[in-house]
Amino acid sequence: MSLAKTYTIRCPKCEQEQKVALYDSIHVAQEPALKTALLENRLNRVECDSCDANFRVDKPVLYHDADRNILIHWMPDTACSRDEIFDTFDEAMDELRAALPEGAEPPRVRLVFSRVELVELIFMMEAGMEERVVEHIKYTLHVQNMNQLPPAQKQLLLNVQDSTADELLFAVRNLETEELEQLLRYPRAAYRGIQKMYRDNPDEFMELFPGPHISAREVLMNEPGADSPITN
Ligand SMILES: [Zn+2]
Repeated sequence: MSLAKTYTIRCPKCEQEQKVALYDSIHVAQEPALKTALLENRLNRVECDSCDANFRVDKPVLYHDADRNILIHWMPDTACSRDEIFDTFDEAMDELRAALPEGAEPPRVRLVFSRVELVELIFMMEAGMEERVVEHIKYTLHVQNMNQLPPAQKQLLLNVQDSTADELLFAVRNLETEELEQLLRYPRAAYRGIQKMYRDNPDEFMELFPGPHISAREVLMNEPGADSPITN
């Protein structure tokens, strides 16, 4: 069951405090309308009682799709540090393992830090694409275009819906302005080639992207010699 709780939130515009119901977890197999709300950026949105502000409250949300056995933790890194997030995530994983019935197939569990990452990942998983292959492609695109695509400032997002049988479409998102600036096309045949490498020999990919947050940007920015600490 999806869970909402009451939170006291301060309006960012007029600073009025109000009590609002916000979702802690959404179970989209039972309540597909909540998935639509998430995709349309309406989930956990608040309309201020005393002014005209309409804003999204970014708080941890657990996305669960029981039909596909997918579990994604959305833990915004605006409020707390990455270390705190990983600790909270590990605790949630322990609870999950303890709660699983014996012999049950454990879900694919992922961690994301932003709504755009969450939406990208949902479409990717639903299309049956390998996240580590997609991130491997992003990694290469960043490395080959360091001047145009510095990972500290630009984020590549796979647009599954607008990709074709021949080409994958990646949007370049400016992390400062949050605007989509550009589209990159990548041959799907090359994706299949890397996917074959991954299936034949997953170790290299697992080592580069151990998870639970599978991200080319994160890998690049934590590499020795990266010029700035990770920001998002
Ligand atoms: Zn207000």
